[in-house]
This record gives sequence, structure tokens and C-alpha cells, in this order.
Amino acid sequence: MIKKFIRKILGVKDQRDPTEPVVLGAAEHGIDPKLLSSNAIRVTSTLQDAGFKAFVVGGAVRDLLLGVKPKDFDIATNATPEEVKKLFRRAFIIGRRFQIVHVMFGQDLLEVTTFRGAGEANAPKDEHGRVLRDNSFGPQHEDAMRRDFTINAMYYNPATQEVLDYHGGIADIRDKTLRIIGQPEARYREDPVRMLRVVRFAAKLQFTIEPTTRAPIAVMAPLIDNVPAARVFDEMLKLLMSGHALACLQQLRKEGLHHGLLPLLDVVLEQPIGMKFVTLALESTDNRVKAGKGVSPGFLFASLLWHQVVEKWTAYKAAGESPIPALHLAADDVLDSQTEQLALQRRIASDMRDIWSMQPRFERRNGKTPYKLLEHPRFRAGYDFLLLRCESGEIEMELGDWWTAFYEGDPNEREQLVATANAAPSGAKRKRAPRRAPRKTGAGAANESTTSEE
Ligand code: ATP
Ligand code: MG
Repeated sequence: MIKKFIRKILGVKDQRDPTEPVVLGAAEHGIDPKLLSSNAIRVTSTLQDAGFKAFVVGGAVRDLLLGVKPKDFDIATNATPEEVKKLFRRAFIIGRRFQIVHVMFGQDLLEVTTFRGAGEANAPKDEHGRVLRDNSFGPQHEDAMRRDFTINAMYYNPATQEVLDYHGGIADIRDKTLRIIGQPEARYREDPVRMLRVVRFAAKLQFTIEPTTRAPIAVMAPLIDNVPAARVFDEMLKLLMSGHALACLQQLRKEGLHHGLLPLLDVVLEQPIGMKFVTLALESTDNRVKAGKGVSPGFLFASLLWHQVVEKWTAYKAAGESPIPALHLAADDVLDSQTEQLALQRRIASDMRDIWSMQPRFERRNGKTPYKLLEHPRFRAGYDFLLLRCESGEIEMELGDWWTAFYEGDPNEREQLVATANAAPSGAKRKRAPRRAPRKTGAGAANESTTSEE
């Protein structure tokens, strides 16, 4: 006890037996029980009443320790998926890479996982060492060992308010350190997505990546190419929609990880011309996420890849194509090259195409044309995109201002605007009017998902 206390005071890294957790009481960890969801408590107590072990685990414990309300709660238990399913009215066994149980209460979904065994070493792997399937169950300490980072490998029991820490996660939370559990090279080989998770968590939490966790990434990054594209896309989307996308990309650059981690990031980060535009787009996305508003992946990817489209668009125009067909050709080229690598879902790709192809139409301000564009189901997204182009200096602010006035104007004002646009010499540079707060209308879904609530 005294030895442990002295080690703690001196900050000496614990060389404990990793099968025995350090147990911290409420006074030591300081978790505010009010941050827990009642459904998380319902699941753990139902399992415990049936004689099983049950804990809140992973990201939720990390967030609780940081004093942040977790956005979702994962539960770990020694009950098998079948045993879990029997205890809840609405529970479904989902068999993806790992079998887990989805327990539903109304709209609320909790993921319940059975403790995994240390079977990763013997699990079936691809030729690069990536684990393909692994459903072996095991004791809790093996489950802790299988998790990615020390700060993600803690267990909280709401009934006793105790935190079980197997890998020094508490100390790392306090030091703001992101440390992988086990031997970094081996862990990245087994699952290369962990390299993307390092970056995401470091940026999101503003933690420092511990040197041995960081070192192999630059060399091992190409292993990400062997991961199924849909899984990389999911992780990429989490990164971009974390509310810290800009910080994530800056972190990648700072760590020298922007080469080869993902082809999309190379495109985005390597070309300074588009940087202003991408920065503004990510800033606006981050602000929306932080304000609890939805974000549309289509808008986001349309922004990230826009300067590539512009480059090809210019080339097609220079080769004699007229602007609109040239833009379609450019969009096809960019989408073709990214769809394969990124597993862009068809719906997202079609949103991107809509946003891009609307852009030259904003330049036509005569007759009925602007009225028709206003009716476009994705007008709001296209218009927001136009404003980003103006703000980044790619095109004159005058065009964005005109559309803002047209969009917000009454029928008389609109008529006048069309008349003046036709009369005014094109390309006249005016001073930028302050951007008004976006109006809520049914005109389209702007930079927001269909499920979002404003
Ligand atoms: P977020 O706040 O983004 O949800 P999270 O840590 O909860 O962060 P999840 O993807 O929800 O992340 O995963 C839940 C937990 O499962 C993690 O905290 C970690 O313990 C474990 N985990 C997830 N992905 C991996 C992985 N690739 N390798 C090892 N453990 C993982
Ligand atoms: Mg989570």
C-alpha cells in the first residue's frame, strides 16, 4: 500500500500484473454519476441482477473521466450474446466483425459486448497480418488487453461507482497521453485502422501521442490500403465529423502523417491552392457539429475534393469544352478515382455531383434561370457551397451577395435583382456585405443531414 502510494507520488509507471486492475473509488476518479444515462444503468443493473458482471466501458468511461457527457454508452459483460439477448425485450445480435448485442430503449441504442479473449494472436488473418475474424470470449483482463488505447480500456461499474483500470489509463488521462496497449507494431498490423484512431483521438482530446505509439505509423500507414474500403470510410467519416476535423488534419500534418495515410488526405493536404477553401469548409463543419447540428457527408466531400474538380474543369475548358459539360467531365473523373478508394456511397456521390454541377448555374442571372435554380432540391447546399467559394476568394463576393439577396428577397426585390444583374457589367467587384444568418426554409438541406434537428 505504502509502496503503491510512493510510486503514485513519484509518478513511476506501474509495472503491475496486467491481469489485476487498479480499482478506484468515486473519491479518487471523481466521475459525476449524473453524466450517466439511465439506460446505461438499466443495462448494467439488469445484467448484474441476473448474476453477470457488467460495466460501462471504452470511450464512455474516458469521457466520464474527462467530465464530458458521453454521446453513447458501450457495455461490456461476461454474459454471452445469447444470454444478453434473453434479458431484454428489444435486443438483437449483430454479427459484424465481432458479434455484439444491440439493446434498444425507444430510440436509444446501447451496444453490449461480451468480454473478448486474447485470441487475436491465433485468429485468422490476411497475408499482411490483419485479423479477419475473432469471436473468442475470455476473462475481463484479456478484454482489456484487446482494446486499443490505455484510456479506452477502463471499466466503470455504476452500482459501486468503481473504475477498473488495467493499463494505467487514469494516469494517461491525467497526463493527456495517448498510448497504445501492447506492442504498437503488432497492434497496427492486426488492425491498421488503429492508426487512424490514434490521430482522431489525439486531435479530438488534444492529447499527445506517446512516442512509441507514434513512431511506427509513418512506416506502417500503407497497411491501411488492405483494410476494406467501407471500414476506412467509416473511420474517416468519424474523423471528419468529430467536430475537430480541422484539428485532426492539422495534427496529421504536424505528425508528418499526411502522406500515404489516405489518398483523400493527400489530395486535400498536399495542395496549398485549395487549402483556404478546405479550411473554411472544415471550420464550418466543426462549428455545426459543436452546435449539435447535422452535417452532410456529401457537402463535406464535395468541399474536400473541389479544387481537384476545378483543376480538371479548367483543363477541359482549355481543351475547348463549354463550361457545363466540362464540369460534368471533371466531376466524373474525380468521383471515379475516389469512389474506388473511398467506398463513397452512391447517395453521397450523387449529392456531391449535384452541389458541383449547380455552381456554373449560379452565374446565370437572367430571365427565369435563377428562379429555376431556387427550386432545385439541393439549392441550399449549392448556395452554401457558393458562399464558401466566395469567402475563400475563389470567386467574387458580389455573386454570393447577389444570391443571398435573391434568396431572401420578396417577389419584387427578386425581380429588381434580376433586372440589375442583367444591366450591370459582369464581374464588377463590390464590397462584401455581412453574411446574414441562414434562413430556415424547406428549400433544401444545406450542409446538414436529413436526420438532423436544428
Ligand atoms: P467515440 O467517442 O468515437 O465513440 P470510442 O472509444 O467509444 O470513441 P468506439 O469506436 O465507439 O470508440 O469503440 C468503443 C471501444 O471499443 C473503444 O473505446 C475501444 O476500447 C474498443 N475499440 C474500438 N475499436 C477498436 C479497435 N480497432 N481496436 C481495439 N479496440 C477497439
Ligand atoms: Mg463509442
